[in-house]
Amino acid sequence: MPSQQNPETLDLFVIGGGINGCGIARDATGRGLSVALAEMNDLASATSSASTKLFHGGLRYLEFFEVRLVREALKERETLLQAMPHISWPKRFVLPYHKDMRFDGDTPTSRILNIVMPWTKGRRPAWLIRFGLFLYDNLGNRKILPATSTVDLTSDPVGAVLQDRFTKAYEYSDCWIEDSRLVVLNARDAEARGAQIMTRTKVTSAERVGDLWQITTEDADSGETRRFTARMLVNAGGPWVQDVIRSKVRINSTEGVRLVRGSHIVTRKLFDHDKCYFFQGEDGRIIFAIPYETDFTLIGTTDADHDDPSTPPECTEAEADYLRNFASSYFKKPVEKEDIVWTYSGVRPLYDDGASSATAATRDYVLKVNTDGGAPLLNVFGGKITTYRRLAESALAALAPYITSPRPDWTAGVSLPGGDFPVDGVDALIADLRKAYPFLDAFWARRLIRAYGTDARNILGDAKTEQDLGHPFAATLTEREIRWLMEREYARTAEDVVWRRSRLGLRMTADEIATLDTWMKSARASETVSTKG
Ligand SMILES: Cc1cc2nc3c(=O)[nH]c(=O)nc-3n(C[C@H](O)[C@H](O)[C@H](O)COP(=O)(O)OP(=O)(O)OC[C@H]3O[C@@H](n4cnc5c(N)ncnc54)[C@H](O)[C@@H]3O)c2cc1C
Repeated sequence: MPSQQNPETLDLFVIGGGINGCGIARDATGRGLSVALAEMNDLASATSSASTKLFHGGLRYLEFFEVRLVREALKERETLLQAMPHISWPKRFVLPYHKDMRFDGDTPTSRILNIVMPWTKGRRPAWLIRFGLFLYDNLGNRKILPATSTVDLTSDPVGAVLQDRFTKAYEYSDCWIEDSRLVVLNARDAEARGAQIMTRTKVTSAERVGDLWQITTEDADSGETRRFTARMLVNAGGPWVQDVIRSKVRINSTEGVRLVRGSHIVTRKLFDHDKCYFFQGEDGRIIFAIPYETDFTLIGTTDADHDDPSTPPECTEAEADYLRNFASSYFKKPVEKEDIVWTYSGVRPLYDDGASSATAATRDYVLKVNTDGGAPLLNVFGGKITTYRRLAESALAALAPYITSPRPDWTAGVSLPGGDFPVDGVDALIADLRKAYPFLDAFWARRLIRAYGTDARNILGDAKTEQDLGHPFAATLTEREIRWLMEREYARTAEDVVWRRSRLGLRMTADEIATLDTWMKSARASETVSTKG
């Protein structure tokens, strides 16, 4: 295959198009740096589309005394909400409590309790939960999100689906985030500011040549290789961070990553309100049950060590059973195998801090700069979706000594594409869209605003009727939207569209997805012909 040399020397080359790579690329480009990013598959094709999809402080991390992480994440929720009110929104979480509940927790907090209050026997007493929620309410400069309250489950509708032994609950706030759309919108914004975003492009090697990096990439479709020169390199390879260090950059590093798989099950809708449940298990773990995509419930997650990033993570039957049984110990009506309509699984690339269990391994991020006497390499370990913007700021701070005129932080409060409207403005935007395009039904209009915000009008354009939007595929997907996704949001296959740019795969048959894929293939082929002709 012929090899092409990119003539420009870039300031920064980013490996990995998950949330951390795209967040860093956006931040760096906005500071005036020339940036290119290579992602070997689709954007968000790995961990960043397989999360529980919460902008959260992580209530349970308080038990591990991860106060820095929790405080940063709590503060971040409202900053992020304001920059992307289309893809993120506040949620209330109901935490049922029962005095006889026992938890076999082995956390720093439970160890202290076992010494000073041995009669609690590993239990999380009510006052401990209330104290945790007090901290949760007050650590993070909360202004938009409502505070914790106590709920009487015998009268409140959220109690109706729970077993009768639960009479009391606490209700607290966190936020929902459409994880894979967050990644794409960061990539789009980076590109709009000048970054080069390359998907289906694998970094096969990176070598230090004096003060520069020489990076070689390979196109997944054509096999074409390209060479880039950059002053700085960021390794945001997520689960592959160590693989990039060892087999692409080939440097000696003592840093390790611990791969921890987390699986979710999606069931048909199990309850009819928009609040989420936070369930505590006898094994000391917690799971969420969250209203999902209007007609479904999302239940997760698990924690299991995962050996090799190249083994695709899958929800095992044992994990699905674990999640069903866990949720069934709270719900009146047990969650049956037949209720499950989909499962997904992802791998957390956690910094290896030597913790004994996957549950206890730190969720905080660790950034390490390696220079080995030459051009700098920044390796990214761990991190949460919630802290991606702060992680990007920290990455740029760590690289500042190698930048001639470093510019200040800028991303707080700056909208992502389509997010330039007030936090409480979604309903008004939906109403306006339906007025302008009367053929949209309520589901369709809400879906478009939740995915694209103010860009929904740019997609629909001058359409007067549904037919003006071109071929209707299924589940309200039309040709015009698919063209937007291919031209503006890097979508190449039906899978990109139905499982990452949207979750419409939940509403489409295998045949409908295959038809869409064939159409996208031929649209790409004719585009290649016309651009080459
Ligand atoms: C089950 C689960 C639930 C979670 N829930 C939450 C939550 O609710 N809230 C929250 O804040 N966080 C959550 N997280 C954490 C969060 O999802 C991750 O921390 C985050 O997505 C990691 O992003 P990343 O960019 O580092 O990695 P990834 O998204 O995995 O991206 C890395 C990318 O690098 C690419 N890559 C690797 N090697 C190369 C190469 N040689 N060339 C080119 N590209 C390459 C990969 O293809 C991949 O797309 C959860 C994680 C899991 C697993």
